[in-house]
Amino acid sequence: THFGFQTVAEEEKAKKVAGVFTSVASKYDIMNDLMSVGLHRIWKPFAVGLANVHEGQRVLDVAGGSGDLTRLFLKKVGSSGQVVLTDINNAMLRVGRDRLLDEGITTPTAQCDAEHLPFPDNYFDCVSIAFGLRNVTHKDAALREMRRVLKPGGRVIVLEFSKVAKPLEKAYDLYSFKLLPKMGEIIANDADSYRYLAESIRMHPGQEELKQMMVDAGLERVEYFNMTGGVVAVHRGYKL
Ligand code: SAM
Repeated sequence: THFGFQTVAEEEKAKKVAGVFTSVASKYDIMNDLMSVGLHRIWKPFAVGLANVHEGQRVLDVAGGSGDLTRLFLKKVGSSGQVVLTDINNAMLRVGRDRLLDEGITTPTAQCDAEHLPFPDNYFDCVSIAFGLRNVTHKDAALREMRRVLKPGGRVIVLEFSKVAKPLEKAYDLYSFKLLPKMGEIIANDADSYRYLAESIRMHPGQEELKQMMVDAGLERVEYFNMTGGVVAVHRGYKL
């Protein structure tokens, strides 16, 4: 990969992710509520609050899919600010954009890979990625890109599934590996996609590991905030 080649495993992962999200796009809202038992409705506003953005600022929502964070950020930055909704997957981006349009919200969108953001250096006040980083093949490259497009003083916000507290481990495994694929099968007729999602959650780095990855990407004052016993965590880091 140092020479820009993708290994077979990496290529497989990117294809798998594309397949999963193309397949779940139309059922995405149900999936979100299902996976999080509705809790994403609390997690997302909390993450956006930690971004501490103000009227008139510029925000980039990476892997924005549903547009949920974009909508919340737009309320913070107002009509003098700007929120750009991006995603690698056309089907997901379309679902997000159409939903916002139905609510009378127009905002710029771009189909792009988190690893190659088509924006200039030092441009945004905040860059967010919610439930997206675990799907990215080269997380280190994505974090560096997110830092690059930030203005000095700007912040990266990562909202992602994380490692649950020890006493919750058993119940959580049961939920994500047994119940979740079953629900996916019944409701979306797509057990495989939900199994992938459960596996991707298990493989994703825990709180401390992700914090270190953000530090390695050049971000500073990195800290994280657990929610729901560590089921998810918000990591925040600054470009100083
Ligand atoms: N941020 C939205 C939310 O919180 O509802 C969507 C999250 S969804 C679980 C994950 C999204 O990541 C999908 O829309 C998928 O297409 C996108 N994604 C996966 N790999 C990506 C990549 N390399 N670059 C950008 N987006 C990616």
